[in-house]
Amino acid sequence: MAAAAAGSELDVAVIGGGLVGSSLALGLSRTGQRVALLDEGDAAVRASRANFALVWVQSKGLGLPEYAGWTIRSSDAWGEFAAGLKAETSLDVSFERPGGFHLSLSEAELENRARQLERLHNQPGIASYKTEIVDRTRLEASLPGLGPDVVGGSYCPLDGHCNSLRLHRALHTALHSCGVRYLPSHRVDAIQYIGGAFRLSTARGQLGAGKVVIAAGNASMQLAPMVGLAAPMKPNRGQIIVTERVQRFLKHPIVTIRQTDEGTVMIGDSQLDSTDPDAMTMPVNSLMAARAVRMFPLLARLNVVRTWSGVRVMTQDGFPIYDQSATCPGAFVVCCHSGVTLAANHALTLAPMIAKGRLDAALIGAFSARRFDVRQAA
Ligand SMILES: Cc1cc2nc3c(=O)[nH]c(=O)nc-3n(C[C@H](O)[C@H](O)[C@H](O)COP(=O)(O)OP(=O)(O)OC[C@H]3O[C@@H](n4cnc5c(N)ncnc54)[C@H](O)[C@@H]3O)c2cc1C
Repeated sequence: MAAAAAGSELDVAVIGGGLVGSSLALGLSRTGQRVALLDEGDAAVRASRANFALVWVQSKGLGLPEYAGWTIRSSDAWGEFAAGLKAETSLDVSFERPGGFHLSLSEAELENRARQLERLHNQPGIASYKTEIVDRTRLEASLPGLGPDVVGGSYCPLDGHCNSLRLHRALHTALHSCGVRYLPSHRVDAIQYIGGAFRLSTARGQLGAGKVVIAAGNASMQLAPMVGLAAPMKPNRGQIIVTERVQRFLKHPIVTIRQTDEGTVMIGDSQLDSTDPDAMTMPVNSLMAARAVRMFPLLARLNVVRTWSGVRVMTQDGFPIYDQSATCPGAFVVCCHSGVTLAANHALTLAPMIAKGRLDAALIGAFSARRFDVRQAA
């Protein structure tokens, strides 16, 4: 049973025990805050256990250049973040940043890719970083076993990947050793702001805290309005195929194919409108597998051992929402796609701002949900 009185012994209640809430809870506890992490429970739909595990920079920020800078910052901080987790938990989350590729299977695809990157990098104010279009000869030097249909691609040295299930485990192990109270089966049904503190009504009773962070994935849409915030979401579904283990052949992650630290190969890049986590559209899997085999023909010889669907946490414009409440000071909302990539920022940069009680003006300026009001009014 959760503790009773509002505003009691907790400084912060973080709602949502996925990658986003867990990274924030860890960062908050490292600043000395007394933290509880409340989660709905194992039956909840969680993007955090269904993702592709890229720590990815290229392509990010078309339409919101600040997102490119924010992503680069997290990519740069990931080494320190992973080392900290290893020191605290002995768990190696297998982060690597060897640079990543996006591959094109026709000249038309390659031209589209080049145009898209040009539009991205021509935006005023975008952070300067290198993503280059590379020809087949350059690809062959880095990607042995490349299929004959690949004509070229793009490369960004800042791209990497990790073991994201182990990341989730490492975060929870670290939370436990930092003394964060993890409260599973505590779905939050209501949040009230009373006398400058928050009272949370959960499936297992009430809990009080001085600050509240809503990091409940797509469910943030229902919780945020309870404290004067908004989180307009538009989730979509992705599918992933996993093969049996094979000797290492892929040193670099490709945006749609990566070889894990354990030797399996993950294939996936689908975006479907459905949000049914139990749905599986087999023609989409066939298409993903066929393209992957054209990229690396050796994949045709491997058995598929698993395939799954995952519902993406997705805001209505695809960019993160980081916001603080004007009417209930001390309430924050954090939701985004790319919670693996941004985990370092959430633990190392965002959590200390929340601990101080205010998000930096630049962050709010770029990522507040007020941007949706402006668009509606326009
Ligand atoms: C197919 C797929 C591929 C992806 N690939 C990548 C990738 O390569 N790289 C990358 O960076 N990101 C990727 N992502 C995105 C990444 O997985 C998500 O951004 C991240 O997991 C979101 O974490 P979260 O904690 O916000 O949400 P979730 O994992 O959905 O967790 C939300 C949590 O909130 C809890 N909750 C919900 N409602 C309540 C409530 N009322 N009270 C208490 N708790 C509640 C739930 O129990 C759940 O644990 C991918 C996602 C998918 C689906």
